[in-house]
Amino acid sequence: MFNCHVHTSFSSDCNMGINEAIEVLNEKKLGVIITDHMDLGLCEDGRFTFDVKEYFNEYEKYRNDRLLLGIEIGMTKDYKNENKKIALNSPFDYVLGSLHVVNGFDPFYDEYYVGKNKKEAYEEYFLCMLENIKIYDFIDCLGHIDYIARYGRFEDKEIYYDDYKDFIDEILKIVAQRDISIEINTRRLEDKVAYENLYNIYKRFKELGGKIVTIGSDSHKAIDIEKNLNEALKMIKDLKLTPVYYKNRKAVEYSI
Ligand SMILES: [Zn+2]
Ligand SMILES: [Zn+2]
Repeated sequence: MFNCHVHTSFSSDCNMGINEAIEVLNEKKLGVIITDHMDLGLCEDGRFTFDVKEYFNEYEKYRNDRLLLGIEIGMTKDYKNENKKIALNSPFDYVLGSLHVVNGFDPFYDEYYVGKNKKEAYEEYFLCMLENIKIYDFIDCLGHIDYIARYGRFEDKEIYYDDYKDFIDEILKIVAQRDISIEINTRRLEDKVAYENLYNIYKRFKELGGKIVTIGSDSHKAIDIEKNLNEALKMIKDLKLTPVYYKNRKAVEYSI
């Protein structure tokens, strides 16, 4: 199995050294792709970006069949061209495209929710994801479709497919038609309600012609590298989706 979403100390919110990740790999039958944050424009001081040259200088020696080198790009319209250059001009194995900023605000923070009810906050989020996935035609995978459900400032943060199906369907169709993958982000999968609702979204992905998925724990600590991976496997088996990882920007299928 491959965990295709693991952060290390090149991410501003992560202190885990790559050696800690390697220790986990050596103990378990697991591969990982390192995906450090590249969120251009998020912070004026350059946090959540990293020096790509330095990343490869430091990590190339660790790259092997079970440890691959990727990047998590925060998709924004303003930085599309710069992100494209980064993605295409460096020898990444994998480019994960994620939405962290919605019209200038990260749903992680209170400011995003000011003056919005849940419907407004979530629709704006999905619309922005849709606009970005349309133009980010160089990514391998769409990351954590449920990012906002981690942080929403509402009693019930959950994403119910039926409530946002017009937006979600459009997003899933683009991913399916482009034959890229969607990530099963394991962060919330221990929660039964989250599992059920994400199951409905991935089921719809399959119905719309989607085939391939990556599994990603989005871990920032060694202890989380394996978090809920089995739940993702169960979902993949039940939905008869195909798990992949990426090497040299090519999807590699594997059996589970
Ligand atoms: Zn992310
Ligand atoms: Zn991440």
